Amino acid sequence: MKVSELLKNTKKTLFSFEILPPLKGKSIQSIYDGIDPLIEFNPAFINVTYHREEFIYKKREKGYLEKFSIKKRPGTVGICAAISNKYQTPSVAHLICGGFTKEETENALIDLNFLGVNNVLALRGDPIKTEQYFVPEEGGNEYAVDLVKQIINLNNGNYIEENIENAAPTNFCIGVSGYPEKHSEAPNMKEDIIRLKAKIDAGAEYIVTQMFFDNQKFFNFVNLCRENGIEVPIVPGIKPIATKRQLQILPKLFHIDLPEELTDLVEACTTTEEVKTVGEKWALKQCKELIDYGVPCIHFYTMGKSNAVRNIAKEIF
Ligand code: FAD
Repeated sequence: MKVSELLKNTKKTLFSFEILPPLKGKSIQSIYDGIDPLIEFNPAFINVTYHREEFIYKKREKGYLEKFSIKKRPGTVGICAAISNKYQTPSVAHLICGGFTKEETENALIDLNFLGVNNVLALRGDPIKTEQYFVPEEGGNEYAVDLVKQIINLNNGNYIEENIENAAPTNFCIGVSGYPEKHSEAPNMKEDIIRLKAKIDAGAEYIVTQMFFDNQKFFNFVNLCRENGIEVPIVPGIKPIATKRQLQILPKLFHIDLPEELTDLVEACTTTEEVKTVGEKWALKQCKELIDYGVPCIHFYTMGKSNAVRNIAKEIF
């Protein structure tokens, strides 16, 4: 089932979440352990993130440099196939521009198509640690909009590689990301919305937002999208705060603001359990308001931890 159809046809707010492939390809059981506690709430779809491998170079004797992989989360394509099969729930494969040539991306899409995974979230990816700015791969896509165009080309039967035997048009439903607090590299919100509209005009069918902790920012973003001719469903991304450290990490990593009221509540906690309770309560309040507003789905960033999302889902799904 295509995510766009689920979002279009639903009469109530749906529930979805995303998972990360385990570091260095540890057992798939760790993936199932993260999904199992949430499956009774009937997620409409489950996203699997995609990660660019990161390397460092170590100097060896005689001066030569040896390349070491320091961060590897492989398996998005296979994990998508495994979970949609095991849970009979659509999976959404994230695809990124960074680190991949268009041929490599095409190969991933061919694999996904072959495995029956026909939902993708098309993203650019962030700069890796060694880059100050995002650098596209030689022969790769520069922006998410270019990736959307490549996928649409495949949907129209136009492959990059020639002579693919029996190449048939694919049938991917494409989602893209949106930023209620603006993408960090965009000069202003107006420019960012223009770029977002370009992704929709290229063929993306829905938007999933970056996490936010102040619903008013999401409502303003939706209004801005609608005023600028973006008509597709917009799915809010929610993350329950779980540790005090996240007060520093989340704004730095995701370029978002945390409301003073929330930071005050978290700072006042004396144990991690208290922080988790505050984080869950805040996210639950956000979700209730978003449901009243009529969002088609709420997307949770589990970041490998399903407990908080389970507690929230128990209350509302
Ligand atoms: P784009 O839409 O390409 O935008 C990037 C920047 O370029 C923006 O500032 C935009 O305004 C600007 N821009 C766009 N087009 C143009 C143009 N033609 N000319 C000039 N400027 C332009 N990262 C991962 O590595 N793996 C994941 O699985 C992953 N999943 C994510 C899921 C969600 C829901 C979200 C919100 C983010 C996710 N990310 C993921 C992070 C994402 O890759 C980064 O936020 C990245 O910096 C931007 O990706 P994008 O697809 O929004 O980029």
